[in-house]
Amino acid sequence: MAIIIDGNKVAQDIRSEVRRDVGALKEQKGIVPGLAVILVGNAPASKIYVGKKAQDCAEVGFLSREYKLPVAISEEYLLGVIRELNNDKLIHGILVQLPLPRHIHSDKIIEAIDPRKDVDGFHPCNVGRLVTGNPYHASCTPYGIIELLDRSGIEISGKEAVVVGRSNIVGKPMALMLLARNATVTICHTKTKDLAAVTRRADILVAAAGRAAMIKGNMVKDGVVVIDVGTNRLDTGKLVGDVAFAEVAPKASYITPVPGGVGPMTRAMLMKNTLNAALAATSR
Ligand code: NDP
Repeated sequence: MAIIIDGNKVAQDIRSEVRRDVGALKEQKGIVPGLAVILVGNAPASKIYVGKKAQDCAEVGFLSREYKLPVAISEEYLLGVIRELNNDKLIHGILVQLPLPRHIHSDKIIEAIDPRKDVDGFHPCNVGRLVTGNPYHASCTPYGIIELLDRSGIEISGKEAVVVGRSNIVGKPMALMLLARNATVTICHTKTKDLAAVTRRADILVAAAGRAAMIKGNMVKDGVVVIDVGTNRLDTGKLVGDVAFAEVAPKASYITPVPGGVGPMTRAMLMKNTLNAALAATSR
């Protein structure tokens, strides 16, 4: 039976480390890291995420600013808010909660954020720098997965890593980060011909397709490390991952649960990225 990787515990460890480093930064340089979170409209899920981010900021000792803007604001107005925050010395990280209302182009908004303050790691500059190996900030979910692997003592170098999913926020950056750590990486998607044949090769399997329980026991080899990114809400209200946990866990060496695996790490890495942004600002 696999070792279950406790994402809540690792995320708590990371927040404690960030809190410690924030204390030192305040004491030595008088700087408090600041995170601005912008929410347009009032989608219930987004409101919950934004609330949790503010809670995390309070826990680690950041200055936290929330901008709750009405759904009807113009793209130009939102660009103006971002321009102001780009020039605000108290703010080191800017996060725009996605999705945005349809009349606002997310790409344009993300591109307006100063890449050094783009703590989500979504700016094309950071994506490009991830390809070449030195982003200012890496996308929080895959960055959190690398931390989970490292802190569980799992070797990445030389391993066969298979990523199911090729989105810009999870699959692609995940593949790049595993490659940067010297894994041999394969990316799968809906046009992959024999998915099971590919996933069975994996020493490290990252499932990020958003399809409930699609990775079955016969799709993995013995000893595989399984990272389940999927968060799928069943009709019953239950939250499940992309991995059929009961079938896969007995074959795996390590596995992340849903909930309590990757999810908490995404928020923790946002705190880490914001701290890094503040540290970088002190050395400019
Ligand atoms: P997207 O819908 O943007 O991308 C899904 C990807 O999976 C696509 O590349 C798609 O392929 C591929 N895919 C879908 N179905 C299959 C299939 N049957 N076989 C092979 N590939 C498939 O999703 P995201 O990347 O944004 O998110 C993925 C999952 O991770 C979701 O459940 C999401 O909720 C969760 N998530 C969790 C986070 C966390 O913090 N825990 C953070 C972010 C996401 P194609 O490109 O061909 O369409």
